[in-house]
Amino acid sequence: MKTLVLPKEHLDFFASVLQQFGEVHGPVAQGDHFVFRRLRRWSEIRLDYPRTLLPPKKYVLPPRECLFHYRPKDGYVPDTTGLDRRVVLFGVHACDIYGINILDQVFAGRYPDPYYQARRRNLAIIGIDCTPDEHCFCRSMRADFVSQGFDLFLQDLGDRYLTFVGTALGDDMVLATGGLFRAVTREDIEEYKERSAVRRQAFVLDPEIRDLPEIFEMEYQNELWEELGAKCVSCGACSTVCPTCYCYDVSDDVALGTLEGLRSRTWDSCLFAGHAVVAGGENFRGSRASRVKFRFYHKQRGFVTEYGRPGCVGCGRCLEVCPAGIDIVKIIDRLREVHHAAAS
Ligand code: SF4
Ligand code: SF4
Repeated sequence: MKTLVLPKEHLDFFASVLQQFGEVHGPVAQGDHFVFRRLRRWSEIRLDYPRTLLPPKKYVLPPRECLFHYRPKDGYVPDTTGLDRRVVLFGVHACDIYGINILDQVFAGRYPDPYYQARRRNLAIIGIDCTPDEHCFCRSMRADFVSQGFDLFLQDLGDRYLTFVGTALGDDMVLATGGLFRAVTREDIEEYKERSAVRRQAFVLDPEIRDLPEIFEMEYQNELWEELGAKCVSCGACSTVCPTCYCYDVSDDVALGTLEGLRSRTWDSCLFAGHAVVAGGENFRGSRASRVKFRFYHKQRGFVTEYGRPGCVGCGRCLEVCPAGIDIVKIIDRLREVHHAAAS
């Protein structure tokens, strides 16, 4: 991968150059939180943010989108609104890029999704490094460093950014600046190594995920799941904020008295009481305990079987938002503890 250096004094100009590649979006402060949105001014951007409330999945899988309209006269007409909008998302952390990489696998897999893929093609990603806070555990989930899924990735070296060029588009962005980036020196690399070592030491949470699929397999009947089910209020906040949760519901809105309507999809959550209701009214995950358990099993075991890695990137959002204090790190630690206690 090509690596260059961008002196920070050129960052504002670089941001202005990016406008030729699409709408520039980034993290901004909003009340007590940070959100990704279109920048009205470059000075709004907050590159020191810990995490945004919603992950960048909203750019490739909007909370609600119309799939197609239908009318007897026209048949089914796909709704392509917004699919050609080009967005440059600046300041995405490694864990969130990992989240998008996981969604890429899901939506390009067995059932390729043209809506997702069109949005993804038009989304340029400029990553940036970050400092872990008390909720981050991306290091344990092997998502603290990314080598793909971005166009450029900036590593802060104080007065400059070490810049990884991930794609041809990233290369075009560099070229469009007309020479703002310079070659890397040995000193840059040494400083990068020092800063990376300091960052690794800054993680407070460090759950051990080795053998986790096996532990989950063995502890399927553990009483912990009933305990968590009694606490969970089925609000769905954990999956709404999760960068890798992608369940959606499909519904039709038919205009009364006509044969016209539209079909749309909306984010759903496996924690909602009606998520697993099927025709005839049967709910095969009717209890809250079964739904909490399903979410954890899907992330930590099902994903490993299907994609070779957990479906959690350790972003810390669900720990922060759960009103019941359900904490994935504590659950991993506790399951490991009871599993090994029983075995000894
Ligand atoms: S499960 Fe929680 S910590 Fe893991 S990626 Fe989703 S929101 Fe982040
Ligand atoms: S955020 Fe907490 S309370 Fe809400 S559905 Fe998720 S686990 Fe349950």
